[in-house]
Amino acid sequence: MSDDVMSLSASEIAADVRSGKRSALSVARASLAAIAAKDGPGALGAFLTVDAEGALAAARTVDDALAAERAKGTSEATLAERFALAGVSVAVKDAFTTRGLRTTCASKMLEAYVPPYDAHVVGRLRERGAVIVGKTNMDEFAMGSSTENSAFYPAKNPWDTTRTPGGSSGGSAVAVSARLSHLSLGSDTGGSVRQPAALTGIVGFKPSYGRVSRYGLIAFASSLDTVSPFAANVRDAELIHSAIAGHDPHDATCVDRPVDRADFSRGAKAIEGVRIGVPKEYFAEGMDPAVGASIREALAKLERAGAKLVELSMPHTSYGIAAYYVLAPAECSSNLARFDGVRYGLRKGADKGSIDELYGRTREAGFGPEVKRRILLGTFALSEGYYDAFYGKAQKVRTLIRQDFDRAFEHVDVIATPTSPVPAWKLGERTSDPLAMYLADVCTLPASLAGLPALSLPTGTVRSGDAGSALPVGLQLVGRAFEEPALFETAYAVESLLGTLRCP
Ligand code: GLN
Repeated sequence: MSDDVMSLSASEIAADVRSGKRSALSVARASLAAIAAKDGPGALGAFLTVDAEGALAAARTVDDALAAERAKGTSEATLAERFALAGVSVAVKDAFTTRGLRTTCASKMLEAYVPPYDAHVVGRLRERGAVIVGKTNMDEFAMGSSTENSAFYPAKNPWDTTRTPGGSSGGSAVAVSARLSHLSLGSDTGGSVRQPAALTGIVGFKPSYGRVSRYGLIAFASSLDTVSPFAANVRDAELIHSAIAGHDPHDATCVDRPVDRADFSRGAKAIEGVRIGVPKEYFAEGMDPAVGASIREALAKLERAGAKLVELSMPHTSYGIAAYYVLAPAECSSNLARFDGVRYGLRKGADKGSIDELYGRTREAGFGPEVKRRILLGTFALSEGYYDAFYGKAQKVRTLIRQDFDRAFEHVDVIATPTSPVPAWKLGERTSDPLAMYLADVCTLPASLAGLPALSLPTGTVRSGDAGSALPVGLQLVGRAFEEPALFETAYAVESLLGTLRCP
């Protein structure tokens, strides 16, 4: 029974709950039952905190509010907008503040932190009738590509539990892939939603920089961070994105532009005449041949359905990693300065020694090795005499990468690439080699640096190398800035042609 409910799409759940065919309470119970059956620290490791009590209370509130609206005779259309996510279960990355609910960022530093306020997007989800079932596992402070940098336990890929689900929003990807929740929220700074979506066979969507408020998202790299959802299909991704997007005066980088909805009525036909740019640099060495073949096959199918493939060159692609791994650590070193044992979270030995010693003790105990590595790298890159050579130079490279996209969009409507050069790798395989971990981000970093909307959706599964089990492959589609509706429409057409995946 609970499995059936968890198989439905978010839009079906919301419509059922609005019409009274199904209660929000029954949906919340189904999600909590799935979590209890499949999740836990030694199992999938998707959640750091499950909020059963809060979820049941929220579901009852939604049911009561809807009953009151129905009694008043409120129209279906009004309800569909106000309760766009009625009763839909949502898992939230532990990087978003949730009022009264522990928010750790998967760090010892915030192990006991209970925020007094909701992140803007969490508030939006609640207003639209969504039910938050818990907070998900991640790489500490969102730094990583495998969720193994969690200070608590790693998340595991439901397709093969000896493998990583990707990261840093791995727990949120697992929640949707294993159908523990209908939707989830992650954050994507350099690929942290698109990459785990690809590795777990679901849809991950990163909006344009500035499209969604980050108020209450614990900051990692402020010129790159975006609020990005996961869903089992493209329509559901659009549904949650449009529920959370839009202006918020609490985030100065959040733009005040209307949020247009996508029109899915043309279905697969929307692919006809679409010019799809295929940049050769994304199919370079280091890519798993099976991934390359799956992407090529998918593109050929789109061409047969009427798309026009345009071979491109985006010459600065390979500099994305070097630029990102200067900029992101630099910004993180500045953002994470606030965790000093005085204001938030952990405090180590406040009763002895100087204030500097308090900082030192707290940060030594509170941060894990990858976070420390980033703070050291970033502090170095920003230090006097090196700023121009590192940070300044990386900013220039960033401009060149953005110009590659600008030039490409003169000739094409969307750009298609693999999301990850490899399918899910074994847990532990890259943990001792930070550079190998960084290289996994090669396909997602350029769109982040350029601030463009991008979405990953599955092309199918492959059995590659040592993999006994079938593993998902993701196709990344990158669109023009603030043209999210067009990107969703193209993605929906692609999904109609390629199908969705369901973890066995
Ligand atoms: N893997 C990248 C990093 O480690 C991206 C992380 C992210 O998008 N949050 O920084």
